[in-house]
Amino acid sequence: MTDMDLTEAELDPFEAAPLRLTIDLQALTDNWRDLAQRSGRARTGAVLKADAYGLGIEDCGTALYHAGARDFFVAAATEGETLRPYAPEARIFVLSGIWPGQEKTFFDNDLVPVLASEEQLAFWMSVIAERGDHPCALQVDTGFNRLGLSVAEALELVGDVSRPASFSPVLLLSHLHSSDLSSADSNRVQLEAFRKVSHAFDGIEASLSASAGIFLGPEYHFDLTRPGIALYGGQAAGEIRNPMRPVATAEARILQVRSALAGETVSYGGSHRLARDSRLAIAAVGYADGYLRALSGAGIPLRQAVPSGAFGFVAGQRVPVVGRVTMDLTIFDVTDVTSTAVRAGDYIELFGPNMPLEEVANAGGTIGYELLTGLGLRYERRYLDPDI
Ligand SMILES: *Cc1c(COP(=O)(O)O)cnc(C)c1O
Repeated sequence: MTDMDLTEAELDPFEAAPLRLTIDLQALTDNWRDLAQRSGRARTGAVLKADAYGLGIEDCGTALYHAGARDFFVAAATEGETLRPYAPEARIFVLSGIWPGQEKTFFDNDLVPVLASEEQLAFWMSVIAERGDHPCALQVDTGFNRLGLSVAEALELVGDVSRPASFSPVLLLSHLHSSDLSSADSNRVQLEAFRKVSHAFDGIEASLSASAGIFLGPEYHFDLTRPGIALYGGQAAGEIRNPMRPVATAEARILQVRSALAGETVSYGGSHRLARDSRLAIAAVGYADGYLRALSGAGIPLRQAVPSGAFGFVAGQRVPVVGRVTMDLTIFDVTDVTSTAVRAGDYIELFGPNMPLEEVANAGGTIGYELLTGLGLRYERRYLDPDI
C-alpha cells in the first residue's frame, strides 16, 4: 500500500462527503415506543414504504424489528421482499395489493396483500383456489376516495356464503383523510363508517389510524395503529407542537464563501439582487438531491404560493437561501454570521434538530413527507445504532 492509499483508507467517507445524512436509529425506536404508548391497548405497527420514507428500509426495518414491531406496511411487493430478511417473524402488509405475476413474490416472502377492490378480491380467490390458504387484508374506503372496497361492498362480502372457506382476511383497514386536523368533522364520519364495517367483520382485527390518527384518541386506535411519518420525526398532528424526536439530519458542505457587492445579482436568471454588501456560502446541495427548486429564495418569479424561501443552519444561526436553487448547488446568505465562524469546508444543516424538516418543506410549498422521500442518491449515509 502506498502512503496515499493509507490516508484514503483511514478517511471516514462520511467526514469527506459533500452531502451527508445522519439517521438516528435510537430516535427512530424511541419514537416507535412513544407511539406505542400513545396507541394504548392497540398494537403499533410501522409503515416502511418508499424505502422507509427515504431513510433506508433495511436499517430502519431492523431497528424497529428489534424494538418489537411485528406489523409492517409497505406500498409495493418488492419493498416487502427487501424487508423480509430483516423482519423474519413479522407480518408484512402490501398496501397496493396483489397483481397477476406477483404470486410468487407474495408466497415466497410470506407477504400479506391488502385487497382493495372487487377485481382484486376475485383475483385473490383464484390464487388461493390454486395455491391454498394464505392470509390477506381488506381495505375499506370510508370517505377518502382512494383505495378500498366501498362500505356496501365490504358488508356484502361478510354475508357472501359463496366465498371459499380458505379465504381468511386477518386485518380490516381504512385510512382517514384529515386526521391531522382534530376538529375535522370527517374524522367522526369515517370513524362511524369504519365501526360499522368492523362490527360486521367480527373477530377480524381492525386498523384505522396512521400517525396523526393516533393523536385523535383511543376510539381511533382499534387493534393496530400504522404510524409512518411520526416514526421518522415528522409532524403528524397539525395543531400541536411536534412531540417526536428528529431522526434525520441533512448537511451540505460549504464549497466556497464569497463576498459580493450591493447591486450584484445571485444565481440563474440574476433572480436575486443584493440590497447590501454580502457574504455568500455556496453549499453542495441542489434540486437533484431533493432540495427543491421551490425552496429558492423569496421574491423570484417561480415562487407564488409561498412568500418566503428556506433557511439553513450554520454556526448557531439560521441563514436564508438566496436566489434560485440549482441542480447541485444552493447559495445561502451568511452576511449576518461572524466572518470567522463560517468557512469553506464547514457543513450547513439543511434540516435536522436545528432546522425542523416541516419548516423547510413548508418553505417549498410542500410537506416533510415529500422532502424525505425525494432525497436522491448522493447523500453519504451514516446510521447511529440504538442502544440495546
Ligand atoms: C402512508 C400510509 C400510512 C402512514 O401514514 P403517516 O401519515 O405517514 O403516518 C398509513 N396507512 C396507509 C394506508 C398509508 O398509505
